[in-house]
Amino acid sequence: MPKPATAHKTASSSTHANPLAADSLLPADRDDSALSLRLKHYLKSEDITQIWEAYRYADQAHQGVVRKTGEPYISHPVSVACILADMHMDLPTIMAALLHDVVEDTDISTDDIKEKFGQQVAELVDGVTKLDKIEFQSASVAQAENFRKMLLAMSQDVRVILVKLADRLHNMQTLEAMRPDKQKLIAKETLDIYAPIANRLGLNEIYQELEDLSFKYIHPMRYNAIANAVKAARGNRKEVVSKILESIKHQLVGMKIEAEVSGREKHLYSIYKKMSGKTTAFSQIYDIYGFRVVVKDLVGCYVTLGALHGLYKPITSKFKDYIAIPKANGYQSLHTTLLGPFGTPIEVQIRSAEMHNIAAAGVAAHWLYKSSDAQLTALQQKTHQWLQRLLEIQSDSADSLDFLEHLKIDLFPDEVYVFTPKGKILALPKGATAVDFAYAVHSGIGNSCVAVRINQDLAPLRTELHNGDHVEIITGSLAKPNPAWLNYVVTGRARAHIRHYLKSQHSTESAHLGERMLNQALRAMHIEPDQITEAHWQKLIRDYGLKKKSEILTDIGLGKRQNVMVAHQLLAMGEILEESPEGGIGKFLGKIFRKPSKPLDTITIRGSEGMAVQFAPCCRPIPGDPILGFINKDKGLVVHTHDCPAIRKFRLDPEKWLDVEWEPDSEHLYKANLNLTVANQPGMLAKIASGIADAGSNIDNVSVEESDGSSYTNLYFTVQVKNRIHLAELMRGLRKIPDVVRINRSKGNPATHDGKSVS
Ligand code: MN
Repeated sequence: MPKPATAHKTASSSTHANPLAADSLLPADRDDSALSLRLKHYLKSEDITQIWEAYRYADQAHQGVVRKTGEPYISHPVSVACILADMHMDLPTIMAALLHDVVEDTDISTDDIKEKFGQQVAELVDGVTKLDKIEFQSASVAQAENFRKMLLAMSQDVRVILVKLADRLHNMQTLEAMRPDKQKLIAKETLDIYAPIANRLGLNEIYQELEDLSFKYIHPMRYNAIANAVKAARGNRKEVVSKILESIKHQLVGMKIEAEVSGREKHLYSIYKKMSGKTTAFSQIYDIYGFRVVVKDLVGCYVTLGALHGLYKPITSKFKDYIAIPKANGYQSLHTTLLGPFGTPIEVQIRSAEMHNIAAAGVAAHWLYKSSDAQLTALQQKTHQWLQRLLEIQSDSADSLDFLEHLKIDLFPDEVYVFTPKGKILALPKGATAVDFAYAVHSGIGNSCVAVRINQDLAPLRTELHNGDHVEIITGSLAKPNPAWLNYVVTGRARAHIRHYLKSQHSTESAHLGERMLNQALRAMHIEPDQITEAHWQKLIRDYGLKKKSEILTDIGLGKRQNVMVAHQLLAMGEILEESPEGGIGKFLGKIFRKPSKPLDTITIRGSEGMAVQFAPCCRPIPGDPILGFINKDKGLVVHTHDCPAIRKFRLDPEKWLDVEWEPDSEHLYKANLNLTVANQPGMLAKIASGIADAGSNIDNVSVEESDGSSYTNLYFTVQVKNRIHLAELMRGLRKIPDVVRINRSKGNPATHDGKSVS
């Protein structure tokens, strides 16, 4: 029969065309009408129309999908929206709640949402989707804390985390339909991660419900036992509770205080925690009677306190003023414990209506308050503005700044949270790079890292890490820390390790050179280095006030101590002198400082000494040049060419210099200075640069003389070459370039190489 089918189709399309008939659109489902009722409390009808559009869109997207509970999938987002509507959350949040699983579970993209419902809703949905993707694996307390921070940091907009908490609450409410092993897993995660977040944000009711539901699935037997005990005790207590309630009300009326007084019960999980924590019996916990007094304003709180203390004797040690000093999540109240009739302890919480709303809804209290404010939506767009409003609500409190500070730390931490390959979460300061991560994992990994894989993709080590990144460091057995890393690491740990490594490298080089220099001086005195015993060294180390032999050797290598002086001090200790063939300190002194009977050994320059050996920038010696070494107090061993004008005056004073020679076949590159005179025409610099590259050399520095209008210009290059032969080949090649008029290697005129023109 075609007729009913057609009728059905018409009905459905007409509802889409008529948004004003919003309520009639809903299936006769309890949740949906419940949502409608809630929305009418605080939203304008235009807003509600938009919400039904989001509802239809989500319903369409999840079409045909059924939850484990047997209901159509849409019942879940609708229930989540209900929880948030109870908190009077704003329009974008409710729309995002309805759409929160659409991107994760269907083909619809964030861009589609943006196009249809605008940027704000799209960003909220995107935020929730991202949270859904990260998985909590480790159960340790510290890791749970990091995971919570990661969730908060990733949320950015606090509404994202509120949608996520509502989502989790509904999943917990319908957990019955899941397999028992899954139930336990989800309940554990809720207890470790989501309940503490709800508590942190001051969402008291959600927090308690999440804890009780988790408790129910993790320890079903204990849950039932406590639930039954509470049920039984409630009957016995009834009479006492109503008696106390009456006398409190009577006292307040007598004092002309307007107040709402109610009895309250602890939630089951908090009873369980108290019982297991202090091995307290159920009766001891439950026999404490709890009451709440809500008054109009702050002053009323303290007046009420006085009135109640006049009624029953307070237990002074139990009094807490959370109005003067609010809890970190913004909670404010006066807590006092009274000694009631028959000696029963009575716990009373006293608070204003405002404080009560904050206690129930926490960060969401803001929406409860100002929902009629026309500017509200704009204000809510930025979380920091929202926090500002919260601060205003709290302005009665002297510690409200402190509260804001706490909230900020959790919502906008200066930290990023990333995963190791094993699923562990590391907290790093914002701006941290892969190198910081490597050192945070282990100093050995830091010292040998060569590359990184971030979310499976290869990336440079300097890459900044983002919340939720999966980071895997690739190490190399020959890799070494690079001084350039210091430019982009932000953690003290990485910086300290890199510095330590570089410093120890440096002093190893210097110590090596120092040892060669000391041995040279000893041999000149006809002492073989192995004649110096450990005892001699120990004495010398003590005399110098140092700790290790290597420190003395490093000092020699760096020119802070003279090799000849150290050698002399070792010999002056005595025993060695007797063993030595010539003996007698006077004789030695003569030899050391005047004419060594044996020429000093020559020190070989390898080019790989690093900081321990410097090549003088005035003459820039290269292998093949005859060279001399000078020990400089600050710079260590400085090597000059024989003919360097800068050393002319020292040359006649051999005590000041050391014989040095090049190691044959060194493959190291050395700097040399070249002066060129070229015809003043465009492209010359490029031609010469490519000539230098063709010769297998590098340009270390280049400066150009300012043109004086003549047709020739002087160019000054510092190039890197292996030795004199290499330099000669390079110069030969450059001479072949047309318009190169003159070329020569420059020695001993550093003024031509500091980038200024020469007159
Ligand atoms: Mn969901």
